[in-house]
Order: sequence, then structure tokens, then C-alpha cells
Amino acid sequence: SEAAHAYLQLLLLQHIPRDMRAAVSLIEFIIKISALDMALATEAYHVSRVGTLQQSLRVLRDRTHELRRLVDTDTFTGLASHAHILHVLERSLADADQSPVSLITADIDRFKDINDQYGHLVGDHVIRGVARRMTSVARRNDAVGRCGGDEFMVVLRRTSPASVARFARRLCARVGSYRFKIDGIKIRVTVSVGVAVAADGEGARPLIARADNALYRAKRDGRNRVVVDVPSGAESSTPTGHDDAICHRPAAGTR
Ligand code: GH3
Ligand code: MG
Repeated sequence: SEAAHAYLQLLLLQHIPRDMRAAVSLIEFIIKISALDMALATEAYHVSRVGTLQQSLRVLRDRTHELRRLVDTDTFTGLASHAHILHVLERSLADADQSPVSLITADIDRFKDINDQYGHLVGDHVIRGVARRMTSVARRNDAVGRCGGDEFMVVLRRTSPASVARFARRLCARVGSYRFKIDGIKIRVTVSVGVAVAADGEGARPLIARADNALYRAKRDGRNRVVVDVPSGAESSTPTGHDDAICHRPAAGTR
């Protein structure tokens, strides 16, 4: 539109009668000045517009960052959300540098009884306490998440199967030996833990299924224990490919 405006000015100048040509240079000067003025005004407008857009962009970026943080966090415990821990697992499995990758699933034993006996608020407190116990065992590079309810997941990277099993036992013992104090009530809880070490090229789904099966076995075999499932073909400490360990004496009667 600025080009059309200048062309129009040129046409008008060309059609000014000869006897008025003396005034033309003055008119041209005035036109140039006013055009410059218009260009400056346009520029000032655009500069302020760009400033406003940059500010909006900053606000949007901050909000996106905040939303990302909320989606990635289980706000109830402060651990990674279920979606985020699955994302970490998939990314880790796809990255050869993170190998070997292991998945640990843990579930509080007989948690319904705690809710029934002491109420949901106490149950909530116990879930948060277990989350804290779990993070206290984890290292910086371990991703600890809550899958919802009383279930947790830990993704370990670049950790040997033996160290993963040790980690799982420590986790189990750290929760089982703790006495949660809530409103004068002292409660002990235990967790059952399933461990699966990823085989070369194994995807997230089969790995989760194996860890869940190991957890199921830990529950079935009496709870408060760790069951490690190693992929077939891999080196295993036991001929069955499973390695059970009671990590702490059952907490019966300690509540
Ligand atoms: P198991 O040893 O077989 O795991 O027995 P369980 O009683 O723990 O059974 P399960 O894991 O299936 O039950 C979990 C219960 O946790 C069910 C639900 O009522 C309760 N729950 C789930 N989310 C929350 C929560 O955010 N707060 C509280 N207080 N309870 C929850
Ligand atoms: Mg449970």
C-alpha cells in the first residue's frame, strides 16, 4: 500500500500544469517529508507491535512451561506423573546410551485396610510418605513416578541387573521399616515390588507386562518382597529366570 501511495503521488506531480512547476520542488519536498514522517510513524507502530507480541510470546512460553510441569508431575506426591514416567521409559529404551534399562513397579500392600481402618486422609498421608521413602532411595538419574492409587514405578538407567535388584530390595526395606506417624497414629506399611530388566530391543509394553507379572508374583507369594524377572536367554542367578527376595519381615501386628 505504501508503493501505491508513492505511485499516486508521482502521478499527481506529473499532472501539475507547467506554470505551477516552480512550486513543484517545494511540493516534492513537502511530500518527501510527509512520506518520511509516515514511514517513521509506521515503524514506531511496528516496533511497539513487535514488543507486544514478544511479551505475549514470553507469557505463552511461561504458561506452556507451567502446563508441561503440571502434566509431568503427580501433584499429589510431587513424583513424576504416570504419563511422564512412561515417556521417560520409552525414551530411555530408545537410547542405547541409557542401556541397560530396568523398570520397577511397586504397590502398597493391603492399602485398602488402611483406608478402611483410619480413613482416606490418613491413607493419603501414607501414600505421600511412601513416595518420600522411594525418592530417598533413588539417585539423581532414577525416575520415580506414581501410576495412580497406591502404585509406583521407577525407571533405572545404566544400572546392572544386580544393582537393580539391590535397589529394589533397599526400596522395599526402606518403606517396610518406616513408621508413619499421623495424628498420633503410628502405621507401618509394606510394598510388593516387581522388577524387569529390559532385553535388547525390548519395547515399553512387554517390559511393563513383565514388571507387572513380577509384582503380581510378589503379591501372590506373600507380599512385602521383591520379585525380579530377567528376560529369557539373559544371564540369571536362578534357573527359573526369577529371583525372589523377602526384603523385610511381614509387618503384621505392627500397625
Ligand atoms: P494389595 O496388597 O493386593 O495391593 O491390596 P490393596 O488393598 O492395596 O489393593 P489395591 O492396591 O488394589 O487397592 C488400592 C486402594 O487404594 C484402592 C483405593 O481405594 C485406594 N486408593 C487409590 N487412590 C487413593 C488415594 O489417592 N488416596 C487414598 N487414601 N486411597 C486411594
Ligand atoms: Mg495395593
